[in-house]
Amino acid sequence: MSLTTLSQTLSNTLATSFTYLPSALPYIARTLSQASNGTLTASESARHYLESNIDFTTLSVFEQWWAAWYLLIGSHTIATGLMSFIMHEVVYFGRCVPWIIIDAIPYFRKWKLQPGKVPTPQEQWECTKLVLFSHFTIELPAIWFFHPLAEFLGMSTWQVPFPPWKTMALQVLFFFIFEDAFHYWAHRALHYGPLYKKIHKIHHKYSAPFGLAAEYAHPLEVFILGTGTLGGPILYCAFFHDLHVFAMYIWITLRLFQAIDAHSGYDFPWSLQHIFWLWSGADHHDFHHMAFMNNYSTSFRYLDYIFGTDDKYRAYKNRLSAEEERVNATEQKWKEQVEAEIEKEGLRAEREAEGKGWWGEKDKKD
Ligand SMILES: [Zn+2]
Ligand SMILES: [Zn+2]
Repeated sequence: MSLTTLSQTLSNTLATSFTYLPSALPYIARTLSQASNGTLTASESARHYLESNIDFTTLSVFEQWWAAWYLLIGSHTIATGLMSFIMHEVVYFGRCVPWIIIDAIPYFRKWKLQPGKVPTPQEQWECTKLVLFSHFTIELPAIWFFHPLAEFLGMSTWQVPFPPWKTMALQVLFFFIFEDAFHYWAHRALHYGPLYKKIHKIHHKYSAPFGLAAEYAHPLEVFILGTGTLGGPILYCAFFHDLHVFAMYIWITLRLFQAIDAHSGYDFPWSLQHIFWLWSGADHHDFHHMAFMNNYSTSFRYLDYIFGTDDKYRAYKNRLSAEEERVNATEQKWKEQVEAEIEKEGLRAEREAEGKGWWGEKDKKD
């Protein structure tokens, strides 16, 4: 599937899913006409929409709702800050819920990377408390101040329509590559003795991680590693002055999915790393937590491979497959033995049956 077809399919899917929403057009029309005739004090957003002469009827339903949200709140900073924080919380905890359910169902244990270590509800609750603490003390201010800075550097927030899907896809790809490299070096630095003891040790509390533990870390670590997540978009804005906050939302959503899934502790046959071999996935990061070394990157495997920080991980994987082969071979031999015994018993029974006459006595002919 080409990138154009993919983006077309995506936008069609989005368009159809939002068609069922009630139209935001009457609200937009009412607010803008009240702002222009002076019945209502024109807010920052209303002024900007009036000046930009947008034809709202040509927008998708989702874009109309986007404009309605900015008109409802009035201030770009508050509207963007609120929406970003709510989006972050909904995506983070929303993505954790399926993993909490999977942990509670023993059927899924066969895909757990460290099946002996399933998190208890108590552990999950302790983890949630610290995660919420850093969300409100570190991430909320970071999210709030990121937008005015990015807007100053040329990021669009209230503007509609959104940029083409192809543009946003390429931007998100750049953010993934940038964050992965930043995280790799910062994470390696965090494993340096004093930094580890003072900061990173908290994140290593769980040697068998679970979804919620993705952001279980010292607030300073959340801040340091968060720089890699926000740094790509800031640099992009500073150089190209063209980025829509909607592309940021796609990036943040995918980045949260990546981080939570990497900590999930499950490796399914359909997990992304089995389809896209450069992808790290849970299998890669779970080893980092189990072995306390190797595999420092987030999304991709290539940096650990290039800098040789996956040697122990690869040796472990080789050992596992050798062991699996040995076990399979032993199991096969054992199975063959049992089958041979059953066959022998069958032959004996067959001979016995053939040896009997009509009345149960031994056949005289024998
Ligand atoms: Zn680490
Ligand atoms: Zn981790």
